Parts: sequence; C-alpha cells; structure tokens
Amino acid sequence: MLFMQGCNMRCRYCHNPETWDKQGGCDAMHLTPQQAFDMAVRYKPYWKGGGGVTVSGGEAMLQTGFVTEFFKICRREGVNTALDTSGSPFTYDEPFCSMFRELCGVCDLFILDIKHIDDDAHKALTGRSNRNILDMARYLSDNGARMWIRHVLVPGLTDDEESLTKLGVFISSLKGVDRVEILPYHSLGIAKWDKLGLEYTLRDVKSPSAEEVRRAEELIGAARYKGYLEENL
Ligand code: SF4
Repeated sequence: MLFMQGCNMRCRYCHNPETWDKQGGCDAMHLTPQQAFDMAVRYKPYWKGGGGVTVSGGEAMLQTGFVTEFFKICRREGVNTALDTSGSPFTYDEPFCSMFRELCGVCDLFILDIKHIDDDAHKALTGRSNRNILDMARYLSDNGARMWIRHVLVPGLTDDEESLTKLGVFISSLKGVDRVEILPYHSLGIAKWDKLGLEYTLRDVKSPSAEEVRRAEELIGAARYKGYLEENL
C-alpha cells in the first residue's frame, strides 16, 4: 500500500486527518515513481495474496500524474495495480480528463468510495458535492474499468433506507462493479483530530452493529437486483 498526501474532502469521520495536508508523502519526500516502486517491492513478501500494489491517501488522484507513472512501472514489472479513491478530484475538464484516461489504461482496479448518494447530505458529511464522484463512477462504467464500491455506514447519517436504496439503484446502473463493501463507521481517528486541534463532531455516534451492517447490505443488494431487472427485462 502506498499512501499519498493531500485530500480536498473533509469527511467528518476521517480517520487519517493527518493526510489532508499536501505536504509530506511521496511528492514532498521527493520520491520519483521509480523510487516509490523500489520501496514498495521491498514489502512484496507482505502483499496480500502476493497480488499487487494499492495506492491510497489522503486522495491519490490529486497527484494523478505521479500515480500513472508509478502504475506504468508496476505494469512493466507484472505487478497488479489498484487505486483507492474518494473520486473527489474527478472532472471532465482538461487537462484532468486526459490524464485520467491515461491512468485508466494502467489501473487494474478502482476502489471508489460513495460516501452519500444524496448531494446535500454528501456536502454536509464531506464538505463537497458528490456529482463529479458519481460522474467518475459512470465514466469507469462506460470505459470498461473494474471497480469496487465502498460505503461507510454511519448510524444516523448514511444508513437510512431511502439513501441505501438509491445507492443500490445507482450501482445497478453501472457495469464493471465486482464488489460492494459496507465499511462500519468507527471512531479510531478521534485521537488524531484532538492532536491536530480539530473539532470531531461525531463523538457520540456508535459503530453500527453487525445486524445494522447486514441490513444495509440487504437493502443495497435488493435495490441492485430490482434495478438490474428493470434494466434488463
Ligand atoms: S476522502 Fe478519505 S482522506 Fe479524505 S477526508 Fe474523506 S476519509 Fe479522509
């Protein structure tokens, strides 16, 4: 796993607020993509299933050029590539869109967070709109990319039936979704927020129970199935 610095979202549950600042990480350490690759392969014995490299953050797509060059090296060396992203930098505007197309050519798997399907609720949760994030999911779908969708389940904020159903319907409209993962909210990041002098606003929110996670999976699964039937029958 390679972690990149910088994120333009401010998720209320972020457990890595120390990565928000773009200073630090590969760029600020002045590592080249080749140096980052050489560093990553040193940990090859610990890669899950011996499989490949995941680039995460912060938000790695804020440094799309670097990630693309890094993934090109991985490809050349026969290493699988995955990008763990919030999708927030995505735009059809140039030069980003051309850079993103190039990235798609060397990324085997996109792991895309959809933090809330409702735009207003997304803004309240992360500080930013979800429109370009949903655009990115459609772009990946239209261009034959493989993706996993992730959703953090926060009791009282992201777990209502209507939103989970809408999320399932949206996912059913996408091609190339190999997996949908519900990540239960946890408050392990609080100490980091305190250390940085930031106000953590979800202090009273409990992690969802296994039953609540299962209910969310079922709601999304049922909506996906219904959406699939409506699209294909
Ligand atoms: S997108 Fe990820 S790194 Fe950025 S604020 Fe949200 S949880 Fe934190």
